Amino acid sequence: MTDLKSLIREVPDFPKPGINFFDITTLLKDPEGWKATIDALKARYEGIQVDVVVGIEARGFFFAPAIAYALGAGFVPVRKPGKLPAETETVEYALEYGTDKLQVHKDAIQPGMKVLIIDDVLATGGTASAVAQLIERLGGQVLGLGFLIELDFLNGKTKLEGREVYSVLHY
Ligand code: 5GP
Repeated sequence: MTDLKSLIREVPDFPKPGINFFDITTLLKDPEGWKATIDALKARYEGIQVDVVVGIEARGFFFAPAIAYALGAGFVPVRKPGKLPAETETVEYALEYGTDKLQVHKDAIQPGMKVLIIDDVLATGGTASAVAQLIERLGGQVLGLGFLIELDFLNGKTKLEGREVYSVLHY
């Protein structure tokens, strides 16, 4: 299998000093790496009934629609405030400094819907945990959360305790 880690570029001091950023654009443009990534996530969830795959703006949008297509599911975007035109549900969550918000269309998630949440990176877990709560507030059933990369040293999984978490790569 393609060595996916070799396709991920680590950029020191981005977006600010002291942060080592995992740049996935170098993997996206590699035909074999891209295919292996979607295939790995597809393999994990194949055979489970998934109604919609939720992607988190912005980099979750690279992966979630491809996985939705592969699983025969729909795609639902979770976006930054002010981007979705119809009635939205909002979740607010803590950042290192301050808070952030994410939104989803209220009618995109119906009670009982089986939902898979996808993003590129699981870091502290704040974003993914907030999105899971947002989906559940609308009655969706979160089957699992899938990531390309999990930064184990940040212990994001503790914020997702009791949830089904899968990451293709661990650092
Ligand atoms: P968390 O809320 O888990 O701390 O951060 C996860 C969010 O931040 C994800 O939406 C992810 O896109 C972004 N993120 C944090 N660190 C990185 C990184 O090193 N590389 C990339 N590509 N995204 C990151």
